[in-house]
Amino acid sequence: MNTAPPSAPVPATPGDALDVQPTPLALLLLGRDSDPRSERGVECPGDLPSPSDPDLVERARAAKERLGEKVFVLGHHYQRDEVIRFADVTGDSFKLARDAAARPEAEYIVFCGVHFMAESADILTSDRQQVVLPDLAAGCSMADMATAEQVAECWDVLTEAGVADSTVPVSYMNSSADIKAFTGRHGGTICTSSNARRALDWAFSQGEKVLFLPDQHLGRNTAVRDMGMSLEDCVVYNPHRPNGGLTAEELRAAKMILWRGHCSVHGRFTLDSVNDVRERVPGINVLVHPECRHEVVAAADHVGSTEYIIKTLEAAPAGSKWAIGTELNLVRRLANRFAPEGKEVVFLDRTVCFCSTMNRIDLPHLVWALESLADGKVVNRIQVDPETEKFAKLALERMLALP
Ligand code: SF4
Repeated sequence: MNTAPPSAPVPATPGDALDVQPTPLALLLLGRDSDPRSERGVECPGDLPSPSDPDLVERARAAKERLGEKVFVLGHHYQRDEVIRFADVTGDSFKLARDAAARPEAEYIVFCGVHFMAESADILTSDRQQVVLPDLAAGCSMADMATAEQVAECWDVLTEAGVADSTVPVSYMNSSADIKAFTGRHGGTICTSSNARRALDWAFSQGEKVLFLPDQHLGRNTAVRDMGMSLEDCVVYNPHRPNGGLTAEELRAAKMILWRGHCSVHGRFTLDSVNDVRERVPGINVLVHPECRHEVVAAADHVGSTEYIIKTLEAAPAGSKWAIGTELNLVRRLANRFAPEGKEVVFLDRTVCFCSTMNRIDLPHLVWALESLADGKVVNRIQVDPETEKFAKLALERMLALP
């Protein structure tokens, strides 16, 4: 996404009445409570080191050294500092999956991220590479908001309304392998937060409508902010209501059919967060991720993916001030990195905003996974079945071929 000056106040997003209702996936503060759906109750088979073990850092280093080139550790931008220090490469989920595929000599790919990312890495790497997720409980609340059964039912609703034939599915990278496979089977493509505009341009050259899964905000922000559609061109399909809560007429009139999913971390930022930081820090630039609500994105100065956020700060002049609307582990690292260059980086909201499932990957789990691999035991392997992989790969290849 490109930069743009803040626009006039934007009316509340359609579907917001739904968004603000309490959800079982409400944001969780780090270390307090658990997410019953995305943090699946999974035990580690074996002895997990104690978090208070003073030798954890040394144990991780030693296990990695024993494994040598056989292991490649991927660290998503939102991971904890204690984990990211052991990553061979850092980045967003798609970059990491491609980095793993480019290292065929690495037999084991340890993915410090969440479940759907490890699935994507398994899809894009060779069959002899085994992908390991140090804690199987690290899910993603957004990806979990669209199940294969719900999406199949939605397609039946679109078929019934007579619009399925003219609808192209576009699924965000942050979705399960099942949803990616659905997308591939129905002629659609995957997108990232960096190429969502190009994916939608392509999809509208193939059909009249787009079913955008599972993040309603990325879909709406791209359609309205980048492509000039109106909010009325978008409808929200709610999988918990009969027929998605939409009439056949509404489906026929819509250009963008947005799945009712969102990120519980980025959904945390509000227009008040933007107004508050502008009042507290005069002259501050507000830079947010497109998973944020539409009114937040419309009020921001700059909008873009995590890679875009990092590049923007790298290019920023000394003395500039930035409020960042994305996950806190990343913002904290950016603040520390850019402070010596005289750039002030603050978190957009006043309250703590970690991704609770990303934080499931901690040093004890990483040590356990690395030591197990060094002992010749593959633990927590993530393996996508061949049929799902075939169609998910098709959707991913369409993304790679986007003009
Ligand atoms: S930050 Fe949001 S989209 Fe990313 S893993 Fe966490 S819940 Fe999922």
